[in-house]
Amino acid sequence: MATIHPSVDFRSDTVTWPTDEMRAAMAAATVGDDVYGEDPTVNALEALAAEMLGKAAGVWVTSGTQGNLIAALTHAQRGDEAIMGEDAHTFCWEAGGMAVLGGITPRPLPTDQRGRMDLAQVQRAIRGDDPHLPTSRLILLENSSGGNHGAAIAPDYFAAIHGIAQAHGLSTHLDGARLFNATTALGLPPTAITQWVDSASICLSKGLCAPVGSVLVGSEDFIRQARRQRKLLGGGMRQAGVLAAAGIIALKTMTQRLQADHHLAQRLAQGLATIPGIQIDPTVVETNMVFFALADTVAITPAELVTRLSHNYGLHIGGYGDRTLRAVTHYWIQPQQVDRLVEAISTLVLAGRSHH
Ligand SMILES: *Cc1c(COP(=O)(O)O)cnc(C)c1O
Repeated sequence: MATIHPSVDFRSDTVTWPTDEMRAAMAAATVGDDVYGEDPTVNALEALAAEMLGKAAGVWVTSGTQGNLIAALTHAQRGDEAIMGEDAHTFCWEAGGMAVLGGITPRPLPTDQRGRMDLAQVQRAIRGDDPHLPTSRLILLENSSGGNHGAAIAPDYFAAIHGIAQAHGLSTHLDGARLFNATTALGLPPTAITQWVDSASICLSKGLCAPVGSVLVGSEDFIRQARRQRKLLGGGMRQAGVLAAAGIIALKTMTQRLQADHHLAQRLAQGLATIPGIQIDPTVVETNMVFFALADTVAITPAELVTRLSHNYGLHIGGYGDRTLRAVTHYWIQPQQVDRLVEAISTLVLAGRSHH
């Protein structure tokens, strides 16, 4: 497939390219062997992430998936069980890594429309000491909730889960791939959420525009053990400062501008809501993700809509099963493209109707 410029690409915020400032910093980065702990740029990134997230230490990892997997392998052993939402990224979209590589059993629980597990159900899911049973060890959380319109979950939920985990000697890990989107929407510092978890991972490569990488943070001891797991998974990188230089700009600069993406998502949602046959509730759009559905009265299929948008207008959105579609805003998307997308969808959907 031909390269798609991110200014017309609404499929995800993973499509973002590094900014000019990032490319300049990458070219100028001082580097060393990071497996030896000698890459000053990686060290600076890890220290910055730890500070921003209120933890003692951090480790640079290749991806969000690797960060979550390393966290699971560090918190839990073979035969242990990890509780998580049934729509959590860790359960649905990470190839079952903790079970495949760690012998850790996932215990998925239902979630509400914001991606929150029921507290009483979490409590009940924690198992007693019985040789028949896996050992409850870990609770995995997510914010923003990618499976739930990118909902920004408020701190009280994390505080409550923390209380339950503490009472039973369980650890907690936050999949914070889009934590800064959540805390921007909530108007809170990231520590308002991360103070309630033992470890957290954040993605630098989504809305924050770095080309590669995530950071996992936690206590000194946790991160020391996590480095062993990273090595085991083949994630020990050498002169990674070239990449980490972009990550530093992601954390310092790009975390400060996410409100703009959220405003554009709101503009998109409100535009789509004016089109007959498009089902959307703009009030559920809190961060940078816009999910919408085609009513049964709409003749064009979701797959056709995606294809026509791409062929006729050069605009790209994602299909998300059934009649649901997704458009995500990010750094490279300008207001004009949002308006073009609304117009194009309107034209295609209304044209589809007139044939019937
Ligand atoms: C993208 C994402 C991940 C995984 O990140 P990769 O870098 O794509 O491996 C994990 N959790 C959530 C919620 C995500 O959106």
